[in-house]
Amino acid sequence: MTIMPFTLFHFGPGLLFGLLLVKYIDFPTFVIANVIIDWRAALVVFGLWPGPRHSWMHTYLGAILFAMVLTTGMVLIRPELDKLMESINLHQRVSVTRIAIAAFLGSMIHVTIDAFHHPLMYPFMPYDIKPLYGLFSTREMRFFTAFCGFLAILWYIGDHFGLIHIPTK
Ligand SMILES: [Zn+2]
Repeated sequence: MTIMPFTLFHFGPGLLFGLLLVKYIDFPTFVIANVIIDWRAALVVFGLWPGPRHSWMHTYLGAILFAMVLTTGMVLIRPELDKLMESINLHQRVSVTRIAIAAFLGSMIHVTIDAFHHPLMYPFMPYDIKPLYGLFSTREMRFFTAFCGFLAILWYIGDHFGLIHIPTK
């Protein structure tokens, strides 16, 4: 199994928890953070980056550092996304704090989900331990993340038809 298909599964928790927390954290930053952690792994898969697939980007330390980079990037481009957010009915009050929390949380969730089932991941690097590995199988995490995505779509459709309300402010 290559990593790319599982990357798409990260959209599930990104969308669901992004919607659940939409009042408190920046939605686009959170969704991007949940998925973009795989950028280095994707480059390795395509032979554009040397080394193992899961290394420093799939550690909590690496994710924290990357969250800072993502926060900076999102602070710069977030105003450009405002129109898009309005068009999908998810217009939010934007702040650097909300963007930073979203980047941090999303990155942590990605690393944690992968740590459950990737045998070659050491999320607590520089420590050589992997206490999360084996708690859930790849199959279970696929189901969980896909189910999150399914619930997110249901909730969004429910909001669209006025059955449920997504509080964005
Ligand atoms: Zn990953």
